[in-house]
Amino acid sequence: MKKVYPPEENVLDRSIRFLKGVGPKRAALLIKLGVKTIEDLLFLFPRRYEDRRHITPMSSIEPDTFATLLVRVVGVEKRTTRKRNLELTIATITDGSQIAQALWFNRKRLENILLPGTVVALYGKARKSFGLLQVINPEFEIVEAEGSPEEVGKIVPVYPLTEGLNQRWLRLLVRQALMEYLPYVEEFMPPEILARNGLPSLKDALLGYHYPDDERCWKLCRKRLAFDELFLLQLGLAVKKTQLKNEAKAPRLSWHGPLQRDFIERCLNFELTGAQRKVLQEIADDVTKDVPMNRLLQGDVGSGKTVIAVAAMLASADAGFQSALMVPTEVLAKQHYSKISAWLDELNLKATLLTSSLTPQERQKAYDDIKMGKSNIVIGTHALIQEGVEFQRLGLVVIDEQHRFGVLQRLTLADKGKCPHVLVMTATPIPRTLALTVYGDLSVSVIDELPPGRSPIKTQWIRKSRLHDLYQFIKDRLSLGEQAYWVCPLIDESESLDATSVLERYESLCEEFSGFKVGLLHGRLDVAGKYEAYEAFVRHEMDLLVATSVIEVGVDVPSASIIVIEDAYRFGLSQLHQLRGRVGRGSIKGFCFLLGEAPTPEAKRRFKVLCSTNDGFVIAEEDLKLRGPGAFCGVRQHGITDFKVADLVKDVELLQKARVEAQKLVSADPMLSKNPLLKRKLLITLGEALSLALTA
Ligand code: ADP
Ligand code: MG
Repeated sequence: MKKVYPPEENVLDRSIRFLKGVGPKRAALLIKLGVKTIEDLLFLFPRRYEDRRHITPMSSIEPDTFATLLVRVVGVEKRTTRKRNLELTIATITDGSQIAQALWFNRKRLENILLPGTVVALYGKARKSFGLLQVINPEFEIVEAEGSPEEVGKIVPVYPLTEGLNQRWLRLLVRQALMEYLPYVEEFMPPEILARNGLPSLKDALLGYHYPDDERCWKLCRKRLAFDELFLLQLGLAVKKTQLKNEAKAPRLSWHGPLQRDFIERCLNFELTGAQRKVLQEIADDVTKDVPMNRLLQGDVGSGKTVIAVAAMLASADAGFQSALMVPTEVLAKQHYSKISAWLDELNLKATLLTSSLTPQERQKAYDDIKMGKSNIVIGTHALIQEGVEFQRLGLVVIDEQHRFGVLQRLTLADKGKCPHVLVMTATPIPRTLALTVYGDLSVSVIDELPPGRSPIKTQWIRKSRLHDLYQFIKDRLSLGEQAYWVCPLIDESESLDATSVLERYESLCEEFSGFKVGLLHGRLDVAGKYEAYEAFVRHEMDLLVATSVIEVGVDVPSASIIVIEDAYRFGLSQLHQLRGRVGRGSIKGFCFLLGEAPTPEAKRRFKVLCSTNDGFVIAEEDLKLRGPGAFCGVRQHGITDFKVADLVKDVELLQKARVEAQKLVSADPMLSKNPLLKRKLLITLGEALSLALTA
């Protein structure tokens, strides 16, 4: 019996418990997939499809190709392989035309599922063994003898699963949701936008994305759904921009004030580079106005971004405002704190460190100082955006190594003040189209010059067979008073079979370098321990620091000249570039050794790029090609561009269209009052994340 819903209730917001067959237990499992409501389920997209339009008869299967078979299980047995002691499940199967085998390694309890007589769809790679057809480790799905003709002869969706849910059940559930609830899906996109861009209705797109008739249909439906994601983000950013323009005014900071001047003239023992001065001027032009600055500062590792940040924060202090500097790791926070507080001491100002490892008393003291306005510059990690942190007068927010943070965190920190200026700094250059999409309308400044006297780092890829040459090279350098890092990817053996653990390497290096002081820094040390190791290295109480990639970001020790990255293939391109940036930061020439094999063509490609260039922009472009954007500007994990369908690399063109449409719409209808459904959709998806002030 169909229920009659009161019209103002949004039916799609109902709990999935409303669907037949979903009790508390399954509801809890579905939540793990991010599905709470009917709408969530409609938007739970297949991670791939199975093309069952072409079920292959066994007689015409080519060995070493993938095929979909529809078969009946004749019998199942378990065996243990002699060689490697693997547990093997062997099912004898038939499709009526001939007999074959399906084999699985180390899969428990399959024999309880694949009972003789069961009809299963198998998808996997076929081979011939002694004339017998075999499918190895195929994916399978029970197709009960009756009741699922709709799944044969079609393109069938394969959904993401979680332990305890099975594919067939979930598939039926989504079908049920589509049949019962698709009629309630509202079209929120203005019809002229759909028409201009040749997009299908949302209802059609949803249905077709779950059950496409063919590839063309799938592409069209995908285009609509991807467009929606890109368009809504662009719309949100455009609305936000109008809102910021009209909103409260940002504090005007004073440039060339006494504190800033003193800092540049007295505290620094070097001249600013031309590029640094240019960037400071760009910042000055922004922060002396009452429109909040929203600027991205890109500068390669070692280009001197910290000094810029401090100069800008002192402009804030000169105007009587506080500043916050947020960094991604505690080690980095402490490092910045010790450097910056030394400068501030000279200027009679106070810096405060805020990290999650403070004791409750220390934290309270920090909170009080910040709230009372006693601290001028607050330096911290994510702890800065916690609930209890209140500023007295926040004028400027600086976020270092931006790629580690999401848009969301940037906005949260900015919300701690009344429209403070925001400067985000990154050593990982973000290609312009991407920057525009993800950050909306950040202005971009670039430091395109390194401080004088730096010579380019020499990067070399070497095999472990030449370890002894490497040892000798390092010893020679250490004897000259230089320092070295040795980076390993993992901390203990259990995590992986083939990568050298940092502890193991530490021991062997202690032996090898017995005449030198060797230290250890890894992710499992507590923060105090990490920082202690790092500080000892800074004070040159250690010659060689064996570390995991915790040293990746920002760590600055000018006399370190060598970095060895062991099993370098395990790191991404940008990460390797960041690691390499730990050396060659002073006047001493830097060396980077990528140690170990390149087991994949992609790894080889990464090594080649690194050995041939030191240019962060070139590397970022390559990285974008190799890995896609999500990973490297740290957006995917933060919700806001957590696209389910859109892909920032493949959909650049669609993105541009979405951007144009969004801007056109907002300039005609800034508060979206003429598009109530669209407004509602926007508020639901991004309202909170972008703190949009549109009344629903
Ligand atoms: P990054 O851009 O990687 O954050 P830092 O701000 O840590 O770089 O600067 C790297 C090193 O270069 C630091 O030791 C810093 O003191 C030094 N430095 C910065 N600017 C200059 C300059 N204009 N001349 C000489 N050394 C500089
Ligand atoms: Mg830095």
